[in-house]
Order: sequence, then structure tokens, then C-alpha cells
Amino acid sequence: MSAIIELKHLKKNFGENEVLKDISTTVNKGQVLTIIGSSGSGKSTLLRCINLLEKPTDGQILYKGENVLQKGYKLPEYRTHLGMVFQSFNLFANMDVLENCTTGQTTVLKRKPEEAKEIALKHLKNVGMDQFVSAKPAQLSGGQMQRVAIARALCMNPDVLLFDEPTSALDPEMIGEVLKTIQDLAETGLTMVIVTHEMSFARDVSDRVIFMDQGLIAEEGEPTELFDHPKEARTQEFLKRIR
Ligand code: ADP
Ligand code: MG
Repeated sequence: MSAIIELKHLKKNFGENEVLKDISTTVNKGQVLTIIGSSGSGKSTLLRCINLLEKPTDGQILYKGENVLQKGYKLPEYRTHLGMVFQSFNLFANMDVLENCTTGQTTVLKRKPEEAKEIALKHLKNVGMDQFVSAKPAQLSGGQMQRVAIARALCMNPDVLLFDEPTSALDPEMIGEVLKTIQDLAETGLTMVIVTHEMSFARDVSDRVIFMDQGLIAEEGEPTELFDHPKEARTQEFLKRIR
């Protein structure tokens, strides 16, 4: 099993607030790692540190064995290896669905427009959104927007795809279609880190689950272990509350 990303004693402070206290874990190639935990436990900050939307205060992030926080490391290149899907979709409102999926390819990856379009159509088809290429985000439902956001991230050929509560902003009837899309992706062997409150989804899709509490990994394990036989009192309480 090969590690794509290793976190070593990662810390993040916002002023006096120690949000991530000492996080060490590994994201393995082809695996799905889910992160669960109460609101405010530091889950989003952890994802944002992994893709360097936030600069860690201390510790190391190794990408394929190299510390990306060392001086001189090629950060723009590192960022292109990671995709991110946000709770609030973050589509470009002024662009149609196809343009949302091609713009990063042509500007960042320097692909030719024709090639970018072909790749975009392939991924839009996979998420069931190829009938909507000319639609603007405002014309789509939340579930459709999120599926476009997933297709857009896939167009950049990420090594790792990060999801921050991808269904939390959706109406209940749309949650299923987005979870199904993510589940299908997991079966293609894509490496993913997913923050979610959907526990039955987490149990089904994960190779490993992390339970975060107050900026620490309180417990980490295989989904059946963690959900059926949580060892820590904090995990037991959290699972009781959320069920
Ligand atoms: P979660 O995603 O688990 O709900 P977050 O990572 O969003 O938790 O937040 C954890 C803590 O970090 C909270 O106390 C929050 O107020 C704080 N925090 C997050 N982002 C910032 C920021 N940009 N500036 C200051 N504090 C922040
Ligand atoms: Mg969050």
C-alpha cells in the first residue's frame, strides 16, 4: 500500500485558538478516508491545510514522500494534484456548465480547447450532467450543481480528491444522487478524503475512518470497527448523538 499524502504532527493555530493540535495520518493510494466529528472539531481546517488553502503552523505534509512545506517546493504544481469539492459548490456563476469544466484545464493545465471539451464531456457524462452543458449554475438544482462541481474537479486529473461536507447544503431528496456519484468514483479507485455527516454512507464507502474531536484524532480505524465497536468514550457519545 503506497502513501500519497502523509501528515506528520500537523498543527494549525488561528491566533490563540489551537484548531489542529497534533494530526498524524496517512492517505493511501486508491483508498477512501472519511473524517467525521462534531462541528468545530477542525475537519474543514484539516482539509484546507492539506491543500494549503491554509498554511499549517507546524508539522509536515509529505506528498509522495516529499515535504511540501519545505522551502523551494513547487506549490502550484502540488495544488494541481489535489481537487476539492466544497459544501457550497463554488461554481463560476457567470459560466455555463461546460465552461466551468474547461476553464481550469485550458488555463492551468494548458490543454487545447477541443481536448478540454472532450474531457469535460466525458466527466459530465459520468456524473449524469452531459445534458446540461449550456445551463448556467443558477438554472440547476443543488444536487446537479454538486455533480457539476465533482465533474469539474475530475477534469483536472487529481491524484486525490477532497470533499468538505459535499451534501450538507442539499435538500434531502438530492443527497442520494450526490452520494451515489461519490460512491461510483470510489469504485474507480480514485483516492479520496471525505468530510461527511452521512454515517451510513461513510460506513459503506470508506476504507478508513477518522473521528476528530477538539483538533485531535480521537480514534481511527476501519469503518466496521469504528462504527460498531468504537473504543473511545468520545466516539461512542458522538455516534449516539448523530444516529
Ligand atoms: P469543522 O469543519 O470541524 O466544523 P473548522 O475547521 O471549520 O471545524 O473550525 C474549527 C475551529 O477553527 C473553529 O473554532 C473555527 O472558529 C476556527 N476557524 C476556522 N477557520 C478559521 C479562520 N479562518 N480564522 C479563525 N478561526 C478559524
Ligand atoms: Mg467544516
